[in-house]
Amino acid sequence: MIRNKKKIVILGGGFAGVECAKQLETRFGHDPKIELIMVSEDNFLLFTPMLPQVASGMIETRHIVLPIRTICQKTKFYEGRIKNIDPYGKLVNLWGAGDKRSISIHYDHLVVALGSETNFFGMADVEKNAYTMKTLNDAVMLRNRVIDMLEQAENETDPILRKSLLNFVVVGGGFAGIETAGELMDLLLDARKHYPTIREGDPKVVVLEALPTILPGFNEKLAEFAKGKMSQRGIDIRLKTAVTSFDGNEVTTKLLDETSKDSMDDSKVGSIITKTLVWTAGVTPVNTIKRSMFKTDKGKMVVDEYLEVPEFPGVFAIGDCALVTDPKTQRPHAPTAQIAEAQAKTVASNLAALIKNSQKEKFEYYSKGQMAIIGKRTGIATFLGMNISGFWAWLVWRNVYLSKMATLEKKTRVLLDWTIDLFFDRDISRLKLMKRNEEKEYKGLDEVDDVW
Ligand SMILES: Cc1cc2nc3c(=O)[nH]c(=O)nc-3n(C[C@H](O)[C@H](O)[C@H](O)COP(=O)(O)OP(=O)(O)OC[C@H]3O[C@@H](n4cnc5c(N)ncnc54)[C@H](O)[C@@H]3O)c2cc1C
Repeated sequence: MIRNKKKIVILGGGFAGVECAKQLETRFGHDPKIELIMVSEDNFLLFTPMLPQVASGMIETRHIVLPIRTICQKTKFYEGRIKNIDPYGKLVNLWGAGDKRSISIHYDHLVVALGSETNFFGMADVEKNAYTMKTLNDAVMLRNRVIDMLEQAENETDPILRKSLLNFVVVGGGFAGIETAGELMDLLLDARKHYPTIREGDPKVVVLEALPTILPGFNEKLAEFAKGKMSQRGIDIRLKTAVTSFDGNEVTTKLLDETSKDSMDDSKVGSIITKTLVWTAGVTPVNTIKRSMFKTDKGKMVVDEYLEVPEFPGVFAIGDCALVTDPKTQRPHAPTAQIAEAQAKTVASNLAALIKNSQKEKFEYYSKGQMAIIGKRTGIATFLGMNISGFWAWLVWRNVYLSKMATLEKKTRVLLDWTIDLFFDRDISRLKLMKRNEEKEYKGLDEVDDVW
C-alpha cells in the first residue's frame, strides 16, 4: 500500500462536483499515488432541469436523481454535512449526527463546489410561508400542495377563499420560475378534469418578475415568444413587479416604475390573494462558504482566472458558489449547470497540471446555447447558433437533456415517464408530507474525533 497518497477532496455532489470527480477519475482513477474523495450532504446528483417536471407529476421523483456511487466509482464518497473548512490546517470538518461521530478529512488539494440555496433577500415572512424549487423535497412538496389546493377548492363555498386556493403565484422569471409556472399550468389543467366544480379558467398561475423581461440572457425575441405563449395559456406574467411581503394568504407587490419617484405611491402597490407562493427569485451561496475563511464577494468565493483561490494555492472553487467574471460582459457568470460543468473540466485539468508541474489553463467559457420549456410541448432554444421556438425547441430540449443524464437506466425511466404521460392523466393522489424538514440535531466536533 502506498503511504502519503495525495488527497484531492471535492466538496459538493452537484453538477460541478460530480463533473470534476468524473474528469479526475479519467486522469487519476488508476493512479495509486492519488486518492479522490467527495463529501456531500446527499448521496445523489439532482438533475435540476427536470425538477419542475417532478413538481408537475410528469416524472417520478427518483428518476431525476443519480446516486454518486454509481457515477463516480473510483471516488471515495462521504455522505455528510460540512461544518467548516480550515485552509491553514488543510482540513475539512464534518458534523456528526446522533450516534455518528464527527470527522475531519485532510486534503492536499481542495475543490469547493457547494452550490447555492434559495435567497429570500432578508424577507422573513416570505421565507416562512413560501414554497421553493431547489431540492427534490421542494418539488414533491409543491406537487402535493397543488393537489391539496384543488381538493379544498372543489368543496369550498366561500368564493374569496376558493379564489385564494386556486391562485398560484410564482416569483421569478428565470429558468426555474418560468419552467415551474409552465409545468404547474399543465398539472392544473390535467388534474382539473377530476374536480367537477372547478372550471378551466378557475385555477390561475401568476408570474411576478422584478426585471422588465423574463428569461434574461435569452435572445429578446425568444423571451418575448415565451411570454406571449404563456399568456395565451392563461399564465399572467407581471414584469417590473417586486414582492414586498407574503403572510401565507396574500402577497403584496410593488410596481418598479422608474417614472415614479415616490416609493410610497399607492398606485404602484398591489396584492394577490393566494395560499401558494413559489419563490424562485434568486440563489445565494450556502452558509458554509459565507462563514468560511475564504475571501467572498456577495457570498461567493473569489477565485482567479484559473479558478484557484489566490490566498490558498491548491484550493479551487467552481459552480454556483464561485465568483467568476465573464470577460465579455464584465458581469459574473450566471448560476447554470452548463457553466458549473465547464468550470469543473478546467479545474480537473489544472489539478493535473499542479500534480505534474505543468502549465495551468485559464477558464474560458463558450456557451453551447440555452433552452427552456414553457409547458404544453412548447419551448425556446438557442442551439447550434440557431434560434428555435415552439414544438421543435421543446423536442430539442428533451433530446439534449435526456442525453445529459448520466446512466442508461435513468434515461430509460425518464423516457418511459414521458411516454406514459402521452397516454394517461397525471396521478392526483395527495401524499401527506410535512412542508419543511425538521432541522437535524448535529453534535460538534470534539478532540477525540477522528482525523482521516
Ligand atoms: C428548478 C431549476 C431548474 C434549473 N434548470 C437549469 C437548466 O435548465 N440549465 C442549467 O444550466 N441550469 C439550470 N439550473 C441551475 C443549476 O441547477 C445550477 O446552476 C447547478 O446545479 C449548479 O451546480 P453546483 O454544482 O454549483 O451546485 P449544486 O448542483 O447545487 O450542488 C451543490 C452540492 O453541494 C451540497 N452541499 C451544499 N452545502 C453542503 C454542506 N454544508 N455539506 C455537504 N454538502 C453540501 C449539496 O447537497 C449539493 O449536492 C436550474 C436550477 C433549478 C433550481
